This record gives sequence, structure tokens and C-alpha cells, in this order.
Amino acid sequence: MRNGAGGAKLQGNGKCSILGPAVTKQPNQLVRLDTNRQAEGSLQALFGLDAVALTARLTALGEPGWRGRQLAEALYRQRITELEGVTTLPLVLRRRLESEGWRVGRPRIAQVFVSQDGTERYLVEGAGGDGQTVETVWMPEGDGGEAGDGSGPDEKGWERATICVSSQVGCAVNCQFCLTAKLGLQRNLTAGEIAGQVVAVLDRQGVEVGRDRVNLVFMGMGEPLLNYDAWMAAVRLLVEEVGLSPQRMTVSTSGIVPGIERLAEESVEVRPKLAISLNAPNNELRSEIMPINRKWPIDEVVDAVRKVQLRSRERVTFEYVLLGGVTDRPEHAREVARLVRRTGLPVKVNLIAWNPGPGIGYAMPETDAVEAFKRTLVAEGVPVYLRRPRGRDIYAACGQLKRTVEG
Ligand code: SAH
Ligand code: SF4
Repeated sequence: MRNGAGGAKLQGNGKCSILGPAVTKQPNQLVRLDTNRQAEGSLQALFGLDAVALTARLTALGEPGWRGRQLAEALYRQRITELEGVTTLPLVLRRRLESEGWRVGRPRIAQVFVSQDGTERYLVEGAGGDGQTVETVWMPEGDGGEAGDGSGPDEKGWERATICVSSQVGCAVNCQFCLTAKLGLQRNLTAGEIAGQVVAVLDRQGVEVGRDRVNLVFMGMGEPLLNYDAWMAAVRLLVEEVGLSPQRMTVSTSGIVPGIERLAEESVEVRPKLAISLNAPNNELRSEIMPINRKWPIDEVVDAVRKVQLRSRERVTFEYVLLGGVTDRPEHAREVARLVRRTGLPVKVNLIAWNPGPGIGYAMPETDAVEAFKRTLVAEGVPVYLRRPRGRDIYAACGQLKRTVEG
């Protein structure tokens, strides 16, 4: 069952353009944005409820408890999008649910952009009916020989894929180099809207959970830890109902200390891995490009990260966006290496060459500067990876996720 491209009513551009920069001039306000607002009308959506909640709804209708588990199977494992198709439930029960205003209500892929490199960017519309879309990205990756198991890509054409998931419509954090920041925060997504992006993409790509290797990165639009409750409820759904492993999930944060501390309290059964958007070698430079650093400077973020009990061999990722002439100099690389050593944490550094976006006054780093930066970290003994830009031609690369409608 494929969601076709096109035919979607895309809107909101006018709305975006009148938005000013986000609210980080008063960083104290940031934590208060952590409201868990439901999309209007989504209250009757079954998608987003876990097995316990589904069971409660059905027992309230006088049904046996195990019907809840059947419904959860249908929504999250069989990926059925209409109540009519849930044939494990008796027809009278399906009719009754419908007449009481319930529907599956899974978010829907409204538009698809396909990149030359195979990356696909989707505009996903929640079931709430406000027409707002968020962006989700599918990045198929051949193993390029690294896996060394001799097997080529199977008939699906990929061996390992990553889904990049959004947590908010827009973002309030106002990092100076990020296109999503230009939207400001429009609203939080619900748990169903976050998990729904993933299930809709799994469905479109015909992914067999448990067999195919799929990673999730919460690195799309928004700051996941400023929508903590809905985001974590989505993670639980994805682990417990959909069957994905939290060890194949990474949440990226700009350094929201109370959120990292909450993450540290989560059970290892559901806690995704952690990535911190470091992006600068010191507080002075970081505050300049990420105003949130004035509220939670590097040392406070690192102290919060220390509270997370890492699994064996688990590393914390430090993401580092290289801004040409601003954060990409050799002395910056040496300073990052010292910083990493000082933390004493098992860290790996993910270097990302800055992706340009309209109206953002930075420059891409020179290839030589990127290579030299990487070499310095390697020489200093810091594990480092250079992230390949994916889907730049369709604005799907890091920090380019904004509701852009080409053409
Ligand atoms: N809000 C979270 C997750 C979404 S941003 C966070 O900031 O961590 C995901 C990553 O994209 C972050 O590491 C961010 O620094 C990076 N990023 C943002 N804009 C970028 C751009 N224009 N080019 C490259 N990376 C960018
Ligand atoms: Fe928000 Fe992350 Fe972009 Fe910063 S980099 S504005 S936190 S999405």
C-alpha cells in the first residue's frame, strides 16, 4: 500500500514567512514551551494510543481486554490505516467504534520529494486536520562494502536505512545556522504524530520490522527534549508496539539540561542513544551560534550527560556542524579534542559540513578544512565520523528541514 505523491494541499508558506525569529532572546522561556498540546480533532484517533489505553477504550465498551491487544497489533504491526480493515475485530465492533467517532487516524504522507541519491523527503500531515505538515526523511544506504558479509543489497535495493523524524512543527531554539529555526515554534507534535511518521514510512518502504535494519534519528524539525512527554510516549510506542530497538534510535538535542536529566531516568529498555549538538569548541563561540548556550553552557550539558547510564560499548555522539571560517579552524579542532578528553565520557564526534539555506549568512566549509579538522581529531585519538550530506538537492539534509514547496 503506497501513499502516492502529489495531490496534497500544501499550505502554510505565507504563514511561515510572517514569523519572526524564535524566542531565544529570553531563553528562560524555553522550558515553558514544553506543553503537550493535542492536534485538534486527534482525540478520537486510535493511532498513538498504546495497548493499555486501547484496552481501556474497548473494555469501556464492554469488550474483553484482549481486543485491545488485537487492535494494537493491527495499528502498529499490520499497519492498517482504516478501521474497516481491522478484520480481527468483529464487524459490529468496528461499526460501533466508527459510530462513536473513532478512527485509525494515522498521519499520512502528503507529498514526496525524491533525491538523486535515493533519499526521500516526505511532508507528513497529522490526522488532526489542521493541515500542518512536518518533514520526515528516508535515507537508504548500501553498505558500500563496510559490512563485509559479501551480501549485496536485497530486492528492496537497500541493506540499512535511516529514518529522520520530526518532533515539533518548527523550533524555538533559534540556532543561527538552522533553517528550521526560521519557522519559530508552531506547535508540538503528539505521540501519534511522531510515531506515525515512522510507521507511515515503514509502510511505504515495505520494511519488515525484525528483519530489515532500520535506524531512527530524532534529528528532524524541532527539539525533541522540549516536547519530552509526547516524544518519549512515541519512543515507547515504537519500541513496545512497533517492535523497533531503542539501541537503533538516536535522539539529538541542542543541550536541554532538564530533558537530558529526564532521559537519564528512563529504563535502558526504552532509552534511545544520545547525541548532543555541540557545534562549537567553547562557550563563547557556542553562545554566538546557539543562544541556548547562555542558559545551559557546555559544562552543564556535559554534567547532565554524565547522569545517563550508558550501555556497554555505547558512546555519546557530539555533533559538530562546520561553519566555514567560523567553527572549522585547526585550533578549533584541537580545542574540541581537549574538550572531549576533559569530559572523560566515551564520545564520538560526528562532523557535518554546514548545509546552506536561504537567508542564513554562513558559508560552507572548504573541503580541505573539513578534511584537516577530521585529521586533527583522529591524530588526537578522538573517534570521528564525517556525515555525508544526504538529499541536499531536495532540502532534506540536516538543518534544511523547513516547509519548503519547490516550484
Ligand atoms: N533540535 C535538535 C535535533 C534537530 S537538528 C538538535 O539541534 O540537536 C539535528 C542536527 O542538525 C543538529 O546537530 C544541528 O546542529 C544540525 N544542523 C542544523 N542546521 C544545520 C545545517 N544548516 N547544516 C548542517 N547541520 C545542521
Ligand atoms: Fe532547533 Fe535543532 Fe535547528 Fe537548533 S539546530 S534551531 S535546536 S532544530
